[in-house]
Amino acid sequence: MRHCPKLKDSSLAVIQAKTKQEKKRISSLSPKRWMQSMREIKFFILAGGKFLINSKSIMKLLNSGNSKTIKGLAHGYVTYGIHLAPSKLSGFNTCHWASEGCSMACLNTAGRGRMTNVQKARINKTKFLFQHRETFMAQLHKELTAGVKKAYKYDKTPCVRLNLTSDIPWETKPFFFEGKSIFDHFPDVTFYDYTKGSYRMRKFIDGKMPKNYSLTFSRSEETELEEIKELVSKVHNVAVVFRDKLPKTWEGMQVVDGDDTDLRFLDPKGVIIGLVEKGLAKKDETGFVVEPK
Ligand code: SF4
Repeated sequence: MRHCPKLKDSSLAVIQAKTKQEKKRISSLSPKRWMQSMREIKFFILAGGKFLINSKSIMKLLNSGNSKTIKGLAHGYVTYGIHLAPSKLSGFNTCHWASEGCSMACLNTAGRGRMTNVQKARINKTKFLFQHRETFMAQLHKELTAGVKKAYKYDKTPCVRLNLTSDIPWETKPFFFEGKSIFDHFPDVTFYDYTKGSYRMRKFIDGKMPKNYSLTFSRSEETELEEIKELVSKVHNVAVVFRDKLPKTWEGMQVVDGDDTDLRFLDPKGVIIGLVEKGLAKKDETGFVVEPK
């Protein structure tokens, strides 16, 4: 095992890169960008022809674009988010309110999520969170600080979705960093998420969530229609996954297109956020995916 090469060793890194994409990415870096990367990835280590992450190394937590969140750029927003392994895939439960249907149909399997290396990265990231929580939160804080700065530099508004494929109560004490929640560390940044937790949604409705955190309730096959109607009547939003296409209304409630962007905090209030099935959701038979009437 030896430390990451300096610029003159960059060709070695290319040879040892694990995948074609890594090779292409590394070989296309300008010398300046290469050195910048080396500074960013301080403890990056090359060993045995593979890029490894050890307990002291830095595994990148945030991404700034999947096929959905990237749509926000056209509206002037950059969404930074974390893809963890949903449900109990990693051995740690990241979705305490998951149903059978949503666990099977999770967006975790949509787009790049189908790739084995992506799944492995999500599992590693989740283990990192649960096994080295303080280090994880410190790094999250650091990456967010850099991301927010970068967004403003490019004249974009940063926003954050920590639960891209999880339902973690980041607002609670176990996830505090230096005595306060990550939301309180970035009071001027909007955070948003979906949740299947009635308990979390209730806290949001009662004004007990951080002021800069917006939640959209997410229906599963276990959700009572009455609960959905109550939330919508109280001017909150509920996401519903539909088969093939979106109806204009569902159970008497207005449906708006939630696939248009991922910027849930900009949605009109008191509506159903309609999402069309993706990934394994296409095979759902539990009732998680709703047949539009
Ligand atoms: S749909 Fe949401 S709650 Fe269900 S498994 Fe996926 S991330 Fe977890």
